[in-house]
Amino acid sequence: MIIKRLKPAVFFLTLILLSSCQPEPKEHHAGLYVFGTIVDVTLYGVDRHKAQQALQQIETDLQYMHRAWHGWQPGPLGRINELLGLGGEFSANPSVLGLITKARELSTASDHLFNPAIGRLIQLWGFHSDDPPKGPPPSDDDIRELLAKNPRMTDIQINHVRMKSTNPALKLDLGAIAKGYALDQLMTSLQQQGVENAIINAGGDIKVIGKHGERNWRVGIRHPRTDGVIAGVDLAPGESIFTSGDYERFYKHDGHRYHHIIDGNTGYPATGVSSVTVIHPDAATADAAATAIFIAGTNDWHRIAKKMGIKYVMLIDSVGDVHINPAMRSRLEFKQPSLTFHLSEAL
Ligand code: ADP
Ligand code: MG
Repeated sequence: MIIKRLKPAVFFLTLILLSSCQPEPKEHHAGLYVFGTIVDVTLYGVDRHKAQQALQQIETDLQYMHRAWHGWQPGPLGRINELLGLGGEFSANPSVLGLITKARELSTASDHLFNPAIGRLIQLWGFHSDDPPKGPPPSDDDIRELLAKNPRMTDIQINHVRMKSTNPALKLDLGAIAKGYALDQLMTSLQQQGVENAIINAGGDIKVIGKHGERNWRVGIRHPRTDGVIAGVDLAPGESIFTSGDYERFYKHDGHRYHHIIDGNTGYPATGVSSVTVIHPDAATADAAATAIFIAGTNDWHRIAKKMGIKYVMLIDSVGDVHINPAMRSRLEFKQPSLTFHLSEAL
């Protein structure tokens, strides 16, 4: 997790020059420890000097994004959250406007299953904090009270930099989109610096540009229960692959497991699904869609995927069955035997 985890940013830039004994290695690699996870960046086919500059820039950009998009700490989004609660119109910090606008579009496209306006509900469950969530789960009454206020992204009005919420219960938690949005921005910035081939892997959520020499970038998708790889896939230049899983952040209480993907219609963690993986060129869309499709569940996933313009989806349900559309099935190379597939022609 990079952005969503929003841990105090402890940044170490470890620039490991692979094959550094050679005069000019093909790959330059950096592991950035940020927001509680390792973000792996690999640049292909650039000289050492340009690579060092580009990797340094990524570190600076991530630090900036961390501060700007944290909903619960002082900073641009933290301030917007304070002001949204007051109900009046205010000038929003431009560093967050693009992300909020994008989040609003994607929320509407997802039928509000991806709903970053439910920050208060996420806070009530304890999944907003930088620290590992502990529980106990909130009371049914407290959940019902917040649900009744029904905050949605469409309650936010934006006019240039002026912003206002018509619903004082609205609080923004951008944890389900910020990582994707960050990867889109980092890749655009790399391209502007003349880097044509790169992969950024933020805890299993990945975006690529260009290729790895003659071949496409190849990545693995984690199995939600075994820690191993369930399938491998080649990514075309510019694609991203995002997974939302119930194993990312959860706590146990009285024998129940409560995870961090909250169904804004019920107020409780979404049920029936272990993980959802989607492939899409736009990483912000992929990120939001993985969350929304997780909540849509085994009956409704095709409809939400279609509405959000997603062509490749794999959903692993809570008994381990694989629900997948033919286009995704034909791209994946499965690594595990005896999987049960439900192929959906509806997408
Ligand atoms: P992961 O990649 O960790 O599996 P997601 O991209 O699905 O996660 O994001 C989960 C995070 O998004 C949660 O930790 C919470 O901050 C926020 N979130 C939880 N439920 C929703 C929801 N229904 N809509 C938008 N954001 C959500
Ligand atoms: Mg997401």
